[in-house]
Amino acid sequence: MHQDADELEELISPDRIRARVRELGDEISRDYEGRPLVVVGILKGAFIFMADLVRHIRGPLVVDFVRLASYGSGTRSTGEVHITKDIEVDVEDRDVLVVEDIVDTGTTLRYLEEVLKLHKPRSVRICCLIDKKERRETDVSVHYVGFDVPRGFLVGYGLDFDEHYRHLPGIYRLRPGYHPEGFRPSEK
Ligand code: 5GP
Ligand code: MG
Ligand code: MG
Repeated sequence: MHQDADELEELISPDRIRARVRELGDEISRDYEGRPLVVVGILKGAFIFMADLVRHIRGPLVVDFVRLASYGSGTRSTGEVHITKDIEVDVEDRDVLVVEDIVDTGTTLRYLEEVLKLHKPRSVRICCLIDKKERRETDVSVHYVGFDVPRGFLVGYGLDFDEHYRHLPGIYRLRPGYHPEGFRPSEK
């Protein structure tokens, strides 16, 4: 089993994730009180979180996805963000909830917020699974946070390292310098 591999240290168990995702869904359901929502997941990292979260949101909603690229191969950010798949539903005058895996420097979400605003939504809020607050370089307001994690490169529950580990049920810290296919990239 991957989760027992010595390159991985479990930080958040599947049970804790389940409980927290349910709480977030309840909170979001209360805040929007049945107002229709457009839930926009950021691919690929948020795909599992998004799938679990929307099943705990009561009230009408539609889902959509964007794909943004900010990280190249490895654990280091390039600092550049671009859209590789845009939203497809019309968000004008609608309440948008962006679902993201991790907010780190904030660059990615800042960029997405700017792009979304061009579509004139009624409101935009952000829900992230993991917030690395200490590493923020750009001001973004995140309304719903699953877990605060100060440091480390995390994988599992949708989060990858070079496309590996997304399928793992919990969230794990990856040992610095380790690569699942053998080569060792520089550490973050
Ligand atoms: P930001 O633009 O906020 O610096 O970067 C956010 C993106 O970088 C996240 O959406 C995520 O895709 C990626 N990222 C940041 N930290 C981690 C991490 O610990 N693990 C993984 N797998 N991705 C991360
Ligand atoms: Mg992401
Ligand atoms: Mg990634």
